[in-house]
Amino acid sequence: MNLELLRKLGESHGVTGSEYGVAAVIKEELRESGARIYEDRFGNLFAEKGSGERTLMIAAHTDEIGLIVKHIDEKGFIRFAKLGGIPDQILPAQRVLVHGMKKRVHGVIGCKAIHVMKEDERKQLLTYDRMFIDTGATKEQLESCGVRVGTPISFVRGLTELENDLIVGKAMDDRAGCYVLIEALKRANPKNRIVTVFTVQEEVGLRGATMSAYAVKPDIGIAIDTTIAGDHPEIAEQDASVKLGRGPTIVVADGRKDSLGGGMIANPLVRGWLMELAESGGIPYQLEVLEGGSTDAAAIQMSQSGIPSACISIPSRYVHSFSEVVSKKDLEGCVELLVKAMESNPPF
Ligand SMILES: [Zn+2]
Repeated sequence: MNLELLRKLGESHGVTGSEYGVAAVIKEELRESGARIYEDRFGNLFAEKGSGERTLMIAAHTDEIGLIVKHIDEKGFIRFAKLGGIPDQILPAQRVLVHGMKKRVHGVIGCKAIHVMKEDERKQLLTYDRMFIDTGATKEQLESCGVRVGTPISFVRGLTELENDLIVGKAMDDRAGCYVLIEALKRANPKNRIVTVFTVQEEVGLRGATMSAYAVKPDIGIAIDTTIAGDHPEIAEQDASVKLGRGPTIVVADGRKDSLGGGMIANPLVRGWLMELAESGGIPYQLEVLEGGSTDAAAIQMSQSGIPSACISIPSRYVHSFSEVVSKKDLEGCVELLVKAMESNPPF
């Protein structure tokens, strides 16, 4: 696999609403792919290849969960709001990058030393509204860097290989999906009009996919995202049965916990077609019902007068933790499945 591409994507910064850096990497990578590339006014990036009777829209989101400056105090300490679902308990002591308009500034989410914590504080969960970022800079210095209310803040973590073909990176959700989409588009000789869309603002409500599905007007929609692999301690198998290394998942249904509201019930024809492609191609896959989350496919299916849609997901441990673990095998399986989808005619 092209580990360097995944590294470039995984280490680039694209907090929700500021995805330009990621789009630049993708544009550069697809420059010689023969795809027609264009962008809309929100930063959704389209790469189009092939022609035929039908249009397939395949989406992966470029944004990552992050923070945004809410207030800077007189000494230069920054208070922040969250962009996307981030658990408070993983925030203290994280290294961050504050994306000032004139200069990017490194920082750390400050936390009290254990020595000065009171007994009960050691056991307490600190909520994010009581945390702050320390860049070392004064308020005036931050201002001269172009840091102000609304400046995006991303997390700093390099991509690292683990044992047994595993990879850990800060934003595999959904740079792993972007990687798969790029590689599949480069390899495929499409039978239909394939429009891959690298969407913005997924983490705050599938916004980029909502707008771009209106622009593309597809006949079929597919989202590529990451999903919860539960094959580690402290998760019961019945709560998250997807495992790393067993292939991409084909999502049958997803949505809010308890009701699966707000999500997607995959179109049975699209889902069945993807399963058939995987089986005939000898590509391992897992079926999935995901409670507690959704993907761009939920937005695509509700566009226009309804678009038959499905989702292929890449299993990932520790989703939304800045140390998300994926398997090279699953990435490769996902690329193979997507190439097959691009190169075949849906039988419906
Ligand atoms: Zn995602």
